[in-house]
Amino acid sequence: MVEEAATVLSHDQLERVEAWGRASGSVAHVYRPSTLDDLRGVFQVARVNGRTIAFRGGGNSYGDAFGNREQIVLDLSRMTRILDWRPQDGIITVEPGVTVSQLWQYVLEDGWWPPVVTGTAKTTIGGCASMNTHGKNAWKLGTFGEHVRSFDLLTASGEILTCSREENSDLFFAVIGGAGLLGCFTSLTLQMKRVYSGLLRVEVATRPNLVGAMHYLEERMETADYLVGWLDAFARGRSLGRAEMHQAHYLADGEDRYTAQSSRPVNQALGDSVFGVLPKSSLWFYMQFFMNNAGTRLVNTAKYTMSRLTAGEQGKSYLQPHAAYHFLLDYVPYWKYAYGRGGLIQYQCFLPKETAEDGFRDLFQLGQRKKLPNYLSVLKRHRPDPFLLSYSIDGFSMAMDFRITDRNRARMVSLTREMDEIVLRHNGRFYFAKDSSLRPSVAEVYLGRERLDRFFELKRRVDPELMIETDLWRRVLRPLY
Ligand SMILES: Cc1cc2nc3c(=O)[nH]c(=O)nc-3n(C[C@H](O)[C@H](O)[C@H](O)COP(=O)(O)OP(=O)(O)OC[C@H]3O[C@@H](n4cnc5c(N)ncnc54)[C@H](O)[C@@H]3O)c2cc1C
Repeated sequence: MVEEAATVLSHDQLERVEAWGRASGSVAHVYRPSTLDDLRGVFQVARVNGRTIAFRGGGNSYGDAFGNREQIVLDLSRMTRILDWRPQDGIITVEPGVTVSQLWQYVLEDGWWPPVVTGTAKTTIGGCASMNTHGKNAWKLGTFGEHVRSFDLLTASGEILTCSREENSDLFFAVIGGAGLLGCFTSLTLQMKRVYSGLLRVEVATRPNLVGAMHYLEERMETADYLVGWLDAFARGRSLGRAEMHQAHYLADGEDRYTAQSSRPVNQALGDSVFGVLPKSSLWFYMQFFMNNAGTRLVNTAKYTMSRLTAGEQGKSYLQPHAAYHFLLDYVPYWKYAYGRGGLIQYQCFLPKETAEDGFRDLFQLGQRKKLPNYLSVLKRHRPDPFLLSYSIDGFSMAMDFRITDRNRARMVSLTREMDEIVLRHNGRFYFAKDSSLRPSVAEVYLGRERLDRFFELKRRVDPELMIETDLWRRVLRPLY
């Protein structure tokens, strides 16, 4: 039982909850429970005070997915216990606040690696399941949810439901990818992937344009374990979409003679300085001088040219630790601050393989025409998944980072609207984890009324009084409810 005093909403808990990209935020009462009883206590606080609750994991969604203006934000980052680990078959049960970083460090020395990891290891397992995240192997191993065996979900009524493909399966397929709107994960059981070394064989190569970049991915789908491309959104004409591409392979059993060494977490990290002198923690400061159209054009040209000279279309390969390969950005602390006071948004869209080339070309050209090119474009290959609010597709995604300033904010709004039209015209989809600009009418088209109705039916079943809400829910889905 929660005592009455404990149910008073305290002003001490008021905090600004900022989107990861820092381009938006709202003030909310933030609670950080560390036990299941504390977690239930926050639900009670919400009930008694007539407030709604949003859940936050690591706070790495670019937009408003975990914000809850003037309501309650329940931060899971202190629920970080590993509840069970079976190294013989790679099955692990964790609390929702366990991070990807904690997870890989726990399992790697036993010869396992999380099958799907995000580009930062600061995400939590609850956050990854809620958004059904993907990695650089999305076309091969699918999304995060495909490796979740079961989870426990605390619903608005206070009941804990165990969900799996066999038990409460309709909820299982809706909660994964359901943007934290149906309940709170209290534990999750996942299958890890067997690996035989702490190293990957990585190849870097260049491609002269968008078509070349897309072919690079398509041609390697059978053989590679990871595939990703970085594209230069400033290049025009025949060079539009010129790219640095990466593929990576696991090492086979016996290939690494020093597996015990390469799998030690201490041997996974990249160094913390550039050329042994400049601390990486100060890089963001120098990066900010290049965070404008002229500066980024220069950096992109230099990066592409260097890569063409050192690796070229033939490619160059080397061995790299898993963590260094996947979480490169984590080794440049505070890099998002280089975007300045207005922060950044990311716009990630998913296009079917048949329309992707035309669609991405239109998107790049639109940004160039409007003088709002994106500063970082990342191309990946995907496959469909079985989850209700899926963004996945048999095709490609392009993630594009845009700087937001006081001067360009209004123009960015109209740019994203025009981009939405292009994506819809090419039968594409969007991703709540990266979203800051989606409108209900667009969500209705790409998700379809039937899928939305099935989601809302479950929402009415487990949360009839709408106790669980987020800023994203109010912006995009609530108007369609
Ligand atoms: C640098 C960077 C790189 C990224 N790379 C990738 C990538 O490669 N692939 C990819 O797919 N995404 C990527 N992302 C996006 C990120 O992985 C997702 O936004 C992910 O959901 C964030 O996890 P989180 O723990 O920070 O969750 P948050 O951002 O805090 O929350 C995400 C959602 O999960 C819900 N939630 C959190 N915890 C719970 C819980 N216990 N129960 C129920 N709901 C909960 C929240 O309400 C919210 O809707 C990247 C983000 C950054 C900043």
